[in-house]
Amino acid sequence: MLWSGWGDPAKARELPEEIRVLLHDLLGVRAPQAPAAALESVRVPPVALSGAHLDALGRAVGPEHVLTSHEARVRHTRGKSTPDLLRMRAGDGSDAPDAVVLPGSHDEVAELLRLCSAERVAVVPFGGGTSVVGGLAASREGFAGVVALDLSRLDRLLAVDEESMLATFEPGVRAPEAERLLAARGLTLGHFPQSFEYASLGGFAAARSSGQASAGYGRFDDMVMGLTVATPAGTLDLGRAPRSAAGPDLRQLVLGSEGAFGVITALRLRVRRAPAERVYEGWRFASFAEGTAAVRALAQEGPLPTVLRLSDETETMIGLARPDAIGQGGSGCLVISGYEGDAVAERRAAASAVLRRAGGEPLGTGPGQAWEHGRFSAPYLRDSLLAAGATVETLETAGFWSNLPRLYDAVRLALLGALGSPLVMCHVSHVYETGASLYFTVVTPQEGDPVEQWERAKRQVSAAVVEAGGTVSHHHGVGRDHREAYAREIGPAGVAVLRAVKAGLDPAGVLNPGVLIP
Ligand SMILES: Cc1cc2nc3c(=O)[nH]c(=O)nc-3n(C[C@H](O)[C@H](O)[C@H](O)COP(=O)(O)OP(=O)(O)OC[C@H]3O[C@@H](n4cnc5c(N)ncnc54)[C@H](O)[C@@H]3O)c2cc1C
Repeated sequence: MLWSGWGDPAKARELPEEIRVLLHDLLGVRAPQAPAAALESVRVPPVALSGAHLDALGRAVGPEHVLTSHEARVRHTRGKSTPDLLRMRAGDGSDAPDAVVLPGSHDEVAELLRLCSAERVAVVPFGGGTSVVGGLAASREGFAGVVALDLSRLDRLLAVDEESMLATFEPGVRAPEAERLLAARGLTLGHFPQSFEYASLGGFAAARSSGQASAGYGRFDDMVMGLTVATPAGTLDLGRAPRSAAGPDLRQLVLGSEGAFGVITALRLRVRRAPAERVYEGWRFASFAEGTAAVRALAQEGPLPTVLRLSDETETMIGLARPDAIGQGGSGCLVISGYEGDAVAERRAAASAVLRRAGGEPLGTGPGQAWEHGRFSAPYLRDSLLAAGATVETLETAGFWSNLPRLYDAVRLALLGALGSPLVMCHVSHVYETGASLYFTVVTPQEGDPVEQWERAKRQVSAAVVEAGGTVSHHHGVGRDHREAYAREIGPAGVAVLRAVKAGLDPAGVLNPGVLIP
């Protein structure tokens, strides 16, 4: 993984000429003055932990699993949001942990939490490091130091129960490895977020992730049947049946807890048979309103495709749904619908009838194949855009169908108000009977301090989302970035509940301080 960008350096993407022209002529983007910092020149604070602290950590996990090198600290600084990348490119490593600690078992995690609570050392659980909401930038204030708890050594498939269609994993397994291990048994999770190449199973649960095939396989939290969680107050072992009436479902308290309540050390996940057949295709609608009505019809009346994505007019024009053909979009609004698994032909025919009745024009499998081919490549373009002097960032929300147009307008207006005339693109890619998420991509010229420029805009958008009745996040989570708006969303009683749970499970407050809890 690139330390100051996204992904595998071998997959770096050049900006297509159409996009260069558009950036320069339409948005007025100019190349930044300063080149990006080199890894060696990133400024990190001196290691705050004492030799005694580091020795104690070494006794818990083995000294070879406690890293304090410059590179290890830089590589565990923050996540992969655009402000995170801009700060790293500017050489700002001020949020670097003092040490990176790699436990090899649940018991070692439990021992580390005991130790860090006693010594007031902040602990940041670190999965794939792909957070885009500041979920890995803990506050140092009042702590003897900060450690990144890198879970990559907890990387095993522990059990498969094919009768119940369950697989139990350790949390550090990355998504491609999970799919590889399951594929050997003809199984799949079906969780394919755009961060698929690097994100971990523990991170998916901790941040309530949702993947591109959520219409067919559900969100990640739908897949979690059981969790083992190490907390400073003891171990939680949750989920002994698919559903239960034994009080509130405590699994739901851990899902989305972003490392603030405990460290997930095992996950029992619902799996499916790997699909033998996959077909993806494109449809065109005249307008976003018409396209929204069509995907709502599928969500409410069925049959629901496995993948369903509707781009608005601007996203369709730019061609963002097909990153390998970016800059060569079309008119109207593009729908990508995909069918995986059994009875593909029947489901496709029935869904096509709904789409046709709703005014859709079939485009065949070409656009679907282009989407499939480029489904993980858009984040690579971000690095080229940042280098060219554009800020590009994504944000997302969700609401009920009746409120979706208001939410769409509120986000666009807030972005236009904050940034002048940015390029704002949107798509719907997670649908439910009662509503859907809206996912925005914004491109704007970097001006002044680009981090401040974006953070100001983001605050205004988050306020507008809450005001318009949406949620501050459908699948990225809260982190530090959405904490204030989240407090407004859940109100004082909601905040009191979160604080009470935190006090019960993490009385010393060492777990991810500053993240999630207002
Ligand atoms: C380019 C890009 C594309 C993305 N696309 C999507 C997308 O399509 N869908 C989507 O849902 N998200 C997406 N994300 C966001 C991100 O990938 C998800 O939030 C993902 O769930 C994070 O997983 P991770 O393993 O990287 O977690 P990390 O970033 O390491 O951690 C996320 C949070 O969870 C905590 N945490 C991690 N592991 C554990 C654990 N075992 N126990 C307790 N707490 C833990 C961390 O402390 C942090 O607060 C994208 C991000 C990027 C950069």
